[in-house]
Amino acid sequence: MTQTARFPTTLTRSPKPRQPDSALAFGKTFTDHMFLMDYEEGKGWHDPRIVPYGPLSMDPATTVLHYAQAVFDGLKAYRGADGTIRLFRAQRHAERLGKSCAGLCIPPIPADLVRQSFEAIVGVDHDWVPRTEGTSLYIRPTVIATDVMLGVHPSHSYTYFVICSPVGAYYKEGVKPVRILATDTHVRAVQGGLGESKAAANYAASLSAQQEAERQGFTQVLWLDGVERRWIDEVGTMNIMMKIGDEVVTPPLAGTILDGVTRNSILTLLRDWGHNVSERRVSIEEVMQAGREGKLTEMWGTGTAAVVSPVGELGYKGDRISIGNGGTGELTQKLYDSIIGIQYGRLPDAHGWMSTV
Ligand code: PMP
Repeated sequence: MTQTARFPTTLTRSPKPRQPDSALAFGKTFTDHMFLMDYEEGKGWHDPRIVPYGPLSMDPATTVLHYAQAVFDGLKAYRGADGTIRLFRAQRHAERLGKSCAGLCIPPIPADLVRQSFEAIVGVDHDWVPRTEGTSLYIRPTVIATDVMLGVHPSHSYTYFVICSPVGAYYKEGVKPVRILATDTHVRAVQGGLGESKAAANYAASLSAQQEAERQGFTQVLWLDGVERRWIDEVGTMNIMMKIGDEVVTPPLAGTILDGVTRNSILTLLRDWGHNVSERRVSIEEVMQAGREGKLTEMWGTGTAAVVSPVGELGYKGDRISIGNGGTGELTQKLYDSIIGIQYGRLPDAHGWMSTV
């Protein structure tokens, strides 16, 4: 056993074979180690450690397997051309994990400890951070309920783990627009529900709508609110933004959508640049109408995986509008280039978003 910055570390005796950067997909291969920590009532969060990556052994009656008391987060480490490894907004991701925990009655883990767990696991597996431009190491912190019982109530014990996956460039041939379908038949989240937590259950709730959208030839689902079925929430696993006239509009953080770290970063840049930005309710009718009138010039999703994902076509109730001739808008491209530039250390990090490992 050796000691990393502050956590006991057991190194693997059988390092895994590595793939070339060009063969990397999303979330299919994992590094040699993982971070683990346990919670028991009375003891609190304890025994943080780094161990060889491997299966978790679980009783079939473990609560997470039945009632989905589980939350996670997702962020990336980037290797710059100078070889430096940087995490993007690690503290904000750590804080969001705490909020997600609170939403599911999971005892929150102190954000500083979560951030240190990211730094420690990336430090141990630093050689797994790929080197080609556009690639990164995806970091997946997760908390699961581990009581062995079938009663429906908050667990008394939990496991926190962090696993890491080297991922290929999201856009191998430049930023590419997607086609999205606004669904009025499926709902992802409602006020008072789990929408603003990064809860595993939210992703289970999204699957059938996603399958239906794909069946109709779309890439992602545009989620509408669960009551009136007209207010835009978010898109797939991204927040959504659109440029209508000279206003950049994005739905507010009002309880049903995730407080995206990319969303927050992009709003910050847009305000720095003096754009007219509104966090306000926006209905699907308003967007379809703006599209028909030629006022909807750009629309894009924001998220850790893609940074920005331009929307080239929007479908709703059998209607389809194309946005910006189906290409990538000027502002969308500028936002992408700016965030990527900061992440890979090419552009100044004016807001202190990056931390080195
Ligand atoms: N909404 C949902 C539902 C998501 O899963 C994600 C991805 N984490 C986002 C928005 C974007 O969040 P972020 O920019 O923090 O990745």
